[in-house]
Amino acid sequence: MTDTPNENEAEMSGGVPAQQPQDDTPKTIGERKLKPSTLMMGHGYDPALSEGSLKPPIFLTSTFVFPNAAAGKRHFEGVTGKRPGGAEGLVYSRFNGPNQEILEDRLAIWEEAEDALSFSSGMSAIATLFLSMVKPGDTVVHSGPLYAATETLIAKILGRFGVHWLDFPAGATREEIDAVMSKAAGSGRVALIYLESPANPTNALVDVEAVAASRDAVFAGAAEKPPIAIDNTFLGPLWHKPLDHGADIVVYSLTKYAGGHSDLVAGGLLGNKAQINTIRSMRNTIGTICDPNTAWMLLRSLETLELRMSRAGENADKVCTWLRDQPKVERVGYLGFLANEESRQADIYRRHCSGGGSTFSLYLKGGEAEAFRFLDALKIAKLAVSLGGTETLASHPAGMTHLSVPDARKQALGITDNLVRISIGVEDADDLIADFEQALAAI
Ligand SMILES: *Cc1c(COP(=O)(O)O)cnc(C)c1O
Repeated sequence: MTDTPNENEAEMSGGVPAQQPQDDTPKTIGERKLKPSTLMMGHGYDPALSEGSLKPPIFLTSTFVFPNAAAGKRHFEGVTGKRPGGAEGLVYSRFNGPNQEILEDRLAIWEEAEDALSFSSGMSAIATLFLSMVKPGDTVVHSGPLYAATETLIAKILGRFGVHWLDFPAGATREEIDAVMSKAAGSGRVALIYLESPANPTNALVDVEAVAASRDAVFAGAAEKPPIAIDNTFLGPLWHKPLDHGADIVVYSLTKYAGGHSDLVAGGLLGNKAQINTIRSMRNTIGTICDPNTAWMLLRSLETLELRMSRAGENADKVCTWLRDQPKVERVGYLGFLANEESRQADIYRRHCSGGGSTFSLYLKGGEAEAFRFLDALKIAKLAVSLGGTETLASHPAGMTHLSVPDARKQALGITDNLVRISIGVEDADDLIADFEQALAAI
């Protein structure tokens, strides 16, 4: 758990609150460092504290009982900064709870982050991140395009509070990134560099290493360096680990692959202790934490994360390899194909990614009528937005999620009427191919 005092501190404070685990599942056996898929079953939870229950109970409570008055005072001294070290223990459910703390410990493991926070949605995670970092007059530098609601948040909502933004295209080179970064640095305080890779809905990859090198060069003599945050929803945590490439904070919509069953909405942020504590204060203030029931469901999801994502990734590879040879298909925008290509995107892919994910773009020959006939004929794949679930989903961005995007911008992003977005699930790959075969025939 994140706020657990070390043993000496606990002794001095007269005891550890009853909810804190005494004994975590070990992270190593001898020299062997245990893998995330192993740690997801037990890490951060002590059955002895919950009547021996193998699985954590769901703690439905709004508040936690202090062992004594001194412990209560000690907590508030930590919260208010009268004592260094921050808050400790569990006090009130807007701040934290046992289910969320176990979830946060396990989330951090996937990317070897120092700490993590859980949120009520991906967007509440992103909004809390921005609110904790920006003030009027600041500039946010970001890659583009971003998830539509994130673009709205930066441009329209933060814009109302005097926050400016500058962006560079997702596939930008070091020189292009440098130009935008220098311009931003020259115009006032840069609060945050915000990336999304692969970008939604183009699947364009951001060169995180180049962004980090650019940031370090442009802000070399500056008093403070803006942190780099990145939305890793599409490929993380299995196929893309941005902290290894120079990012500071990783952002998740846990609604997608991490939750993985299309049955919950949640978000997460991972990073170092200092940054996470800054964001935690904002979350404590505005209450964007995930609820205990959702945290419990996410713990169940994380136990099968690697199984689900591996299978979905293998399925997508088989399906896309089959689709690209079909006469009614114009093009398949699947990241996995980059492994054997020669292009700047392929170079970024090979340096940053260990797999192509399972969400891709299918461009059919024809226009909206052909795309709609294909979508309406699908028997296994369901017609729905979102991605990363156990079931295969298909949607029509131009007519659905991106309907309100101006035509010129749609064209620039490749959101054409013949585009179908597909997220492959964990079904049998040959059954999926049979479904796509009969749907193509129905065009
Ligand atoms: C879905 C999504 C979000 C928003 O997450 P919610 O859980 O729906 O709030 C943010 N970024 C990306 C890339 C997404 O796919």
